[in-house]
Amino acid sequence: MNLALTHLELSELVEGEVVHNVQGEIAMISYDTRRLETNRSAVFFALKGLNKDGHLYVKDAYEKGVRCFVVSSEIALPKDACIIRVEDTLKALQLLAKKHRQGFSIPVIAITGSFGKTTIKEWLYFLLKDTYCVMRTPKSYNSQLGVALALLEMNETHELAIIEADISHPNEMDCLDEIIAPTIGVFTGLGSHYAENFDSQEHHLAEHLKLFKGVNTTFVLEQYAGKFRRKKLATTNTSVDQWRDYLKGDEQFPENRALTLEIATYFGVSELILQKKVSELPTLSGRQEVFEGINGNLIINDTYNIDIDALEQALDYQFSSNERERKIVVLALDEVNVARKVEIVELVNRYPHHGLFLVEEGKLPEELVQTADTSILFKGSFRSNLNALVLKFKNRKHETWVEFDLKAIQINLRYLQGLLPAGTKTLVMVKASSYGTGDVNIPHFLQEINVDYLGVAYTDEGATLRENGITLPILVMNAESSAFEDILRLQLEPSIYSFQQLEAFINVLRANGILNYPIHLEFETGMNRLGFQLTDIDKLITRIQEEDCLTITSVFSHLSDADNTDRAYTLNQLKQFEEIYHKLTARLPEKIDFHILNSSGVLNYAKEAAFDMVRLGIGLFGYANDHQLKPCISWKTTIAQIQAVDTGAVIGYGKSFKASSPMRIATLRIGYADGFRRSLSNGKGHVYIDNQACPVVGNVCMDMTMVDVSNVSCKEGDEVEIIGINQTMNDFAEQLQTIPYEIMTSINKRVARIYVR
Ligand SMILES: *Cc1c(COP(=O)(O)O)cnc(C)c1O
Repeated sequence: MNLALTHLELSELVEGEVVHNVQGEIAMISYDTRRLETNRSAVFFALKGLNKDGHLYVKDAYEKGVRCFVVSSEIALPKDACIIRVEDTLKALQLLAKKHRQGFSIPVIAITGSFGKTTIKEWLYFLLKDTYCVMRTPKSYNSQLGVALALLEMNETHELAIIEADISHPNEMDCLDEIIAPTIGVFTGLGSHYAENFDSQEHHLAEHLKLFKGVNTTFVLEQYAGKFRRKKLATTNTSVDQWRDYLKGDEQFPENRALTLEIATYFGVSELILQKKVSELPTLSGRQEVFEGINGNLIINDTYNIDIDALEQALDYQFSSNERERKIVVLALDEVNVARKVEIVELVNRYPHHGLFLVEEGKLPEELVQTADTSILFKGSFRSNLNALVLKFKNRKHETWVEFDLKAIQINLRYLQGLLPAGTKTLVMVKASSYGTGDVNIPHFLQEINVDYLGVAYTDEGATLRENGITLPILVMNAESSAFEDILRLQLEPSIYSFQQLEAFINVLRANGILNYPIHLEFETGMNRLGFQLTDIDKLITRIQEEDCLTITSVFSHLSDADNTDRAYTLNQLKQFEEIYHKLTARLPEKIDFHILNSSGVLNYAKEAAFDMVRLGIGLFGYANDHQLKPCISWKTTIAQIQAVDTGAVIGYGKSFKASSPMRIATLRIGYADGFRRSLSNGKGHVYIDNQACPVVGNVCMDMTMVDVSNVSCKEGDEVEIIGINQTMNDFAEQLQTIPYEIMTSINKRVARIYVR
């Protein structure tokens, strides 16, 4: 960029008020001080980003030598700084770009569409650069800010400009159209998924078309010509078929190729040259995907190759965006040689990142799982399969998702702990992927908020926790003898409930030469599921004391009826456990933790039976019987389509529902495979849309469900509540004649999990 403007000229161009005037000249724009080398010729635009305000960095810029500032609020700077005040700093930058662009009468090609913009831009550049001096958008600078910066790169030497334009919100294109003032348009096409923030595909398309109001012609694929004709916009149409002779048929992105060839021809590139160059079109990293991830992260997914130039481009993109303050980089370098690895890591370290992670053999580093509010760049070769991991970070907000309120979980934990005598330890049961909430998110959260112990049902579940960085002690309730080696390797602690299991474990410990391995003894007091009997105690303790390979860490039992208002059965269980406690403490010198209470136990017997520790589960999620507990789950889906049906129409499989009057039917993106059971069919169940109950009509399908929205104001894409404020977990469970535990654990894995902090 070489602008050559005096401070005064700049202030006039941006229509700003000079608050403090100092003679001087600027050549380039800066808006991110981290990317700024010491520089006296830059003007700093204090932009207001999503997460941060550029005004906070004015001092920093001053220290780096900047002496000219465009701002929208009061700032204090030393006397030698020129301060220009405007309403809106981004608008001012755009105005500057617009006027700069107006200084040139060369052809300006503007490219938009929902994919392939960068690819077509780079290919056109490749085909035209020998004939023209071409200016093109650097990298993928195609946003409101990016386009302005791109246009400011134009200078007198250029004979042709190629500008990319992208939009993410309605009405953004008007401004881009105004500042780019294109003479030639290129429309790459529209994906089947229209962008969030738009009501429909038509809406998204209409916004794109605004860019082409003033052009001589727009290059489009045949299938879009009709849309343009209807808006009275001139087009030059093409298709893959027309360029058959030039394409071998096995290339990537044939449509993009056809468009590129058509435009190049228009600009006079000869057939001969096209024939020769078409096979040399550069492959691009162009498939970088940016999306809102889980935990408020912004994900930049560039996992198709590990070419250094492409990496630099991706890093430039990440660090030039203001969207998230915190930025980390994740690389998968499995098949890259050492020299190359060093080069790559050096490149990344030139950027002011907050963390660089290497993914090895497809395993996500533990910290990554917990990352929030961060811009995360994933970069790895296609073969490293990093892409599959990236998908785990995708926030599938627009389909079906279940949201967990971590704040509520923390409040519930503190509430339950508050009922217990001070010093009582807390073990949280995270079996069955923490009651269906997901493999590791909740355990990580629990580790962060300092619970004492975790418990799982099976060894595999413990393994998943260890592999994902959980370091808390983990009690395994049902340790199979086939898993004992894993138990040792992963430092898991088995519950021992029978002599046979005890002997098997002793054998494995001896074979491994291990001493004092922690175990937990389970006693039967009335659940009649697993455990030693009271009468086993003498034999059991004698046997254990013969061995130095294990040590008893805790002794526990489990209540079967703790939520019953009739307390008799539970009191009897507690009495037995008391007896076990006395017998054992009489025989064992070492300190052992005793525990018997689950969530309902804590709610009803906290004072008399807390012992040393409690084992919490459902209460943490807010679904035990106490009004103080906060429900933590909302389960949502969206409307895929709305249809009007006439009297007599039948709906869904098996014609089980027949409309007795004209109806409006909404098809939802949820079915029995998601856990929305088929027994909810035909009015047995309902969902809430716009806070109104909508009964299920017809049979629930595997992936979809139809509901009656005849009297509800709603449109396609609208949110639908399965469980939430209107339909509580308990209401929903009752409809299905089951309990919250079963509802929670039967929400299918394919439903996106979102953790809200
Ligand atoms: C699941 C489980 C718990 C937790 O029960 P909640 O009712 O969810 O609090 C406690 N102890 C054992 C042995 C369990 O299996």
